[in-house]
Amino acid sequence: MKNKTIFLILVLLLSWLSLFSQEKKDKITLVIHGGAGTILKKNMTPEKEKAYREKLDEALETGYKILNEGGTSLEAIVATIKVMEDSPLFNAGKGAVFANNGKNEMDASIMDGNTLNAGAVAGVTIIKNPITAALEVMENSEHVLLTREGAEAFATKQNLEIVEPSYFYTERRKKSLDRIKEAEDGRGSIQFSDYANRKHGTVGAVALDQYGNLAAGTSTGGMTNKKFARVGDSPIIGAGTYANNKTCAVSSTGHGEYFIRGVVAYDISAMMEYRGNSLEESANKVIMEKLTALGGTGGVISLDQEGNVAMPFNTAGMYRGFIKAGGKKAVFIYKDE
Ligand code: ASP
Repeated sequence: MKNKTIFLILVLLLSWLSLFSQEKKDKITLVIHGGAGTILKKNMTPEKEKAYREKLDEALETGYKILNEGGTSLEAIVATIKVMEDSPLFNAGKGAVFANNGKNEMDASIMDGNTLNAGAVAGVTIIKNPITAALEVMENSEHVLLTREGAEAFATKQNLEIVEPSYFYTERRKKSLDRIKEAEDGRGSIQFSDYANRKHGTVGAVALDQYGNLAAGTSTGGMTNKKFARVGDSPIIGAGTYANNKTCAVSSTGHGEYFIRGVVAYDISAMMEYRGNSLEESANKVIMEKLTALGGTGGVISLDQEGNVAMPFNTAGMYRGFIKAGGKKAVFIYKDE
């Protein structure tokens, strides 16, 4: 009799546990962006649009597979961002824009919403996948942010993939630098001031895994023609990237100076933590009101513990998409999609 009762309790406990973990598995979500800016259908060819949609799709499928097979949100984020870093389409890794000195100086960051650990690199020129260096800083150093040669020496020591700076050369990005430089000295037809609002192109991902952990990551080449070792918001925890299991995970894209000044990613989290606002209210308020009032352009992808997604932006478009449990997914480029 006694054995039977113990057996029954065990069965009940196990089924409760499996229900509980099924419920968590039902919430796995991955959200990505490939940059915000003046992305207009009239300037897009069908081939180009198809290429972007396919690459975003591939990035989503890559991260989803990891989440679905029991991987962590951090693992999903790194794999997803690597897909976009390896593509010349986005302003990160292979497709990074050029700084004024003719180099591709990249920034990246990652944050674990469970532990609030974070890692970032800025101004790196030879690390094939800057997001892997950010992860390495988080997991295997005592620091949060490493810069330039120091970050490169650390990445080399950690056996990350190192490439020649010429790996990051793309004709398209070089032409953009040339055009902006001409405009800057008054030789070109485009006003220098137009450039800030044109196209960004950073990549980012936020994820919720079946253990209920949120994480966020961002990777970029920064802004074309940046000077004096300029660093944007992407490697700045709280501006370009933030994750906290108590609130949300956020990755930003846009004119970085404004995102730093507005502490955008953390502000969304703080509204949820201290005021109890929903993810959607918080993300909309910070982007559509606060960032816009500051004069900043761009957007965020954000995700909460329940798997709710908010992706507000105040530009014409933002490459973005999400995938949820069961593989339900969507990819968008323009505003009214
Ligand atoms: N936020 C990035 C920066 O300012 C650029 C971008 O998102 O396109 O460096």
